[in-house]
Amino acid sequence: MRIVLLGAPGSGKGTQAKKLMADRNIPQISTGDMLREAVVNGTRFGLKAKALMDVGNLVPDEVVLGIISERLVKVDAENGFILDGFPRTKQQSLDLENLLDQMGTPLDTAVLMNIDFDILMKRLTGRRTCSITGKLLNVYFSSQEELDECTNAGGQLVHREDDNEDTIGNRLYVYRKNTEPLINFYRDRQKLVTIDAEGSIDEVYERLTGALV
Ligand code: AMP
Repeated sequence: MRIVLLGAPGSGKGTQAKKLMADRNIPQISTGDMLREAVVNGTRFGLKAKALMDVGNLVPDEVVLGIISERLVKVDAENGFILDGFPRTKQQSLDLENLLDQMGTPLDTAVLMNIDFDILMKRLTGRRTCSITGKLLNVYFSSQEELDECTNAGGQLVHREDDNEDTIGNRLYVYRKNTEPLINFYRDRQKLVTIDAEGSIDEVYERLTGALV
């Protein structure tokens, strides 16, 4: 199964992709995660990307295309993949289409995770990652037990640097301007499925798997 998860920052793409990855045994490929890794590793390219990411702007298309083309040929992606956060521009969606055509493995579905813009702010400002388990949590929506589980084990609830209100505003603007047009791109190709991304993680997951059959 080769799918793209489309949706605004905070719509739950990463959370749902991780669940799907565990269930279907195909990798979640997140350009955001790969870029953050490059930043942590302190590569020259990572430092350049960091400046753009810190303010919520997009990294150049050719950079993410390079990352994605190297990643899609890895053996674990042979039976499929879940693209999370890529493509984000019209150019990237065309590049992806070409790449998959060349590989003879076209995309099956683009799933749009539809959510009210007001809810996104809370999801994004409250989002934390447990430094030990990598589990995604939210100070507004996770139970106290889940939050304590991380901190009691000596972990920290890490707040992503670009999850502050100023940057979030810009990320949502960038999404509307650059990424929303991809909805029509995939609709025109009859690959688009839309799901309601509001509600609990399990409720959304049920809708997602229901849409993929
Ligand atoms: P994410 O974790 O998907 O929200 O991505 C975090 C940041 O990484 C974004 O705000 C962008 O700066 C950068 N980024 C991630 N994926 C892409 C992409 N496909 N194209 C351009 N920039 C990206």
